[in-house]
Amino acid sequence: MSVFSHIEFDNHEQVAYFTDQQSGLKAIVAIHNTKLGPSLGGCRMWPYASDAEALTDVLRLSRGMTYKSAISGLPLGGGKCVIIGDHRQDKSEALLKALGKYLQGLSGAYITAEDSGTSVADMKVIGTSTEYVAGVSDSGEHGGDPSPSTAYGVFVGLKAAVAHKLQRQDLTGLTVAVQGVGNVGLHLCKYLKEAGAKLIVADVFAANVQRAVDELGATAVEPDQIYAVAADIFAPCAMGGIINSATLEVLQAKVIAGAANNQLSRPEISAQLESKGILYAPDYVINAGGIIDIAYQRSGESATALRAHIESIADTLTSIFQRSELEQLPTEVVANRIAEERFK
Ligand code: NAD
Repeated sequence: MSVFSHIEFDNHEQVAYFTDQQSGLKAIVAIHNTKLGPSLGGCRMWPYASDAEALTDVLRLSRGMTYKSAISGLPLGGGKCVIIGDHRQDKSEALLKALGKYLQGLSGAYITAEDSGTSVADMKVIGTSTEYVAGVSDSGEHGGDPSPSTAYGVFVGLKAAVAHKLQRQDLTGLTVAVQGVGNVGLHLCKYLKEAGAKLIVADVFAANVQRAVDELGATAVEPDQIYAVAADIFAPCAMGGIINSATLEVLQAKVIAGAANNQLSRPEISAQLESKGILYAPDYVINAGGIIDIAYQRSGESATALRAHIESIADTLTSIFQRSELEQLPTEVVANRIAEERFK
């Protein structure tokens, strides 16, 4: 499998493959850029259909982390780890410890944290064999879990997008279609409900949908219906690649503001969003609350400072939206330029 000619290869500094026969560990770590600091990004465990699929994912995700930390003003670079396997069946203490041992060998160029398929508890196990692990703090309301901070950042960012596009300072009576009501999506729904928004939700996991219906009075629709519902805002909080030519055909919302990573299926989609008059809050800008939280767990700064940093996501987005209008460029392109000015 070629790395250097891979379509997602973007001058990544390092790509490392790790295996441990005894525990069944198969993992790839990609370090995209360390100009601003050590690379930090979550460790995803996913039953990838092939090694090639895992490589594609880790290359894209690690690059996204470089942009996310740079635009958030954090002294961190971008990296990511993927473990090939089903977290419900294949995860074991031995596997996590083996991964920790390998990460220690990278001497701090990559620091790991939680992601889909891994938890705070898993990070603590990894932390028994490496010092290069984050998101394990026992202090604070959520004990290391960055998801609530991610949701809060998406909430303040979504409000900034609504203020810009719909000239509304509040969300009362607006409808938000939330795709995926897992760790981030459910927290986001709570903020939205408190702010007076109406919720339409979809999830492939029935119990999560039911929770949003029972606890928050959300209206549930089938997963493939969520794009076409009559909503003012679409908040993707499940997986990537969901903004594409097919979904753009049916999307009703005028604002896209959600937590999912890599929302655009291809970079060209950002121009299509512009021409359709849809305001897109670039994913890595709006979903940076989690990495900001983890950076503050590492530095030990106060909860007040953390909250202020997360709230600054709204200002960052507003300046991106304004520059996008002024320069007649898609919001994603503007965000990329700002980030690149910082890390290149
Ligand atoms: P999660 O696994 O807890 O929740 C995702 C939810 O999406 C699950 O309930 C899942 O059943 C649902 N889902 C999966 N496929 C779906 C589909 N086709 N349609 C509808 N629902 C579907 O994950 P999370 O931690 O809440 O993260 C959500 C997204 O936000 C991911 O893309 C993640 O990479 C991104 N993100 C998360 C964080 C964080 O702090 N957790 C930070 C930045 C970005």
